Amino acid sequence: MTETALTVQQTARPTGFPTPGHFRFAESPVPEPAPGTALVENLYWSVDPYHREMMDGDFELNAPLEGRTLGRVTASRTPALAEGEIVLHRQGWRTHAVVRPEEVRRLPHHPGVPLSAYLGVLGGTGLTAYVALTRIARLREGEDLFVSGAAGGVGTATGRFARLLGAGRLIGSAGSPQKVAHLTGKVGFDAAFDYRTGPVAGLLTAAAPSGIDVFVDNVGGDHLGAAIGALHERGRVARVGTISQYNTPDAPPVVFDHADVVEKRLRIEGFLVSDHQDVQQELYDFAVPHLRSGALVADETVIDGFGRIVEAFLLMLRGGNTGKILVRAV
Ligand code: NAP
Repeated sequence: MTETALTVQQTARPTGFPTPGHFRFAESPVPEPAPGTALVENLYWSVDPYHREMMDGDFELNAPLEGRTLGRVTASRTPALAEGEIVLHRQGWRTHAVVRPEEVRRLPHHPGVPLSAYLGVLGGTGLTAYVALTRIARLREGEDLFVSGAAGGVGTATGRFARLLGAGRLIGSAGSPQKVAHLTGKVGFDAAFDYRTGPVAGLLTAAAPSGIDVFVDNVGGDHLGAAIGALHERGRVARVGTISQYNTPDAPPVVFDHADVVEKRLRIEGFLVSDHQDVQQELYDFAVPHLRSGALVADETVIDGFGRIVEAFLLMLRGGNTGKILVRAV
């Protein structure tokens, strides 16, 4: 166990892309748990696109930040949390946290499943993908699906789950030729394109000449406009996120044919995964057997060392990750 605790704080509000200068690492003695609490030494941290949105106001400056993390109880003053237990909680961006039992979730026991999966394909990231497909888009067997941001955490989980759920043609977009190759070579997409190589509408038409039934949208912007044009009658859009706008406050409004939505009877529905925690057990029941059999693979980019957490976050915002980005304690 380390002697000093490190906590990341945001020091200023960014305009556009944040930089390392918007953060600092604060040192303090390792905290002591008070009666009724336990000390957790964090092992894995999630850095997420929504943290960029929080940097605009929800993250208090010069204060600890919130984020999903997974750690081991190293000292306990509550019978509800045993030393050695692994827990999930939201006091991320720091090496140590003092938690109350009601603030943590215990990990279920799934032998053979790696810890990191509980922040990725079995965690909020996988749950987002699973809810988008099964509750929002209500994907049916044989339906053709387009996924934007397809090589990221939610995107790869969406593609892999859709394959297992019996989707028809799978089309994905991502920001580099290497990611496109990963999607078609490893994840199971039938076609993929690099959205940086031309207008998305033309790239999507070339990749899905007969159109699509469902769009899971992690990106927004011109991806959304293009997909509305490509959707068949009674097509559905599951709006997951809008990462094309998080670092571009002056992004132009999305242009699409509004009449298309009526004439094709489209449904466009956004959601927040936090409203769907009741689906977590169903995700375990669905995904764990596939993880164990090897039919489901967790795509991850793991950055070693808490000291690199800011770097990992900034890397993800610029597309430096394939699959879920995680930081691991060394
Ligand atoms: P991620 O996709 O693993 O990482 C972000 C990715 O966004 C990057 O790898 C980058 O990949 C892509 N990106 C960055 N700027 C872009 C731009 N201008 N245009 C297109 N792509 C861009 O992150 P994630 O955690 O899986 O999240 C994906 C999306 O889901 C985000 O929009 C996030 O806010 C949303 N989300 C929503 C919920 C919810 O409850 N609704 C929950 C979790 C996540 P490229 O190299 O391909 O550009």
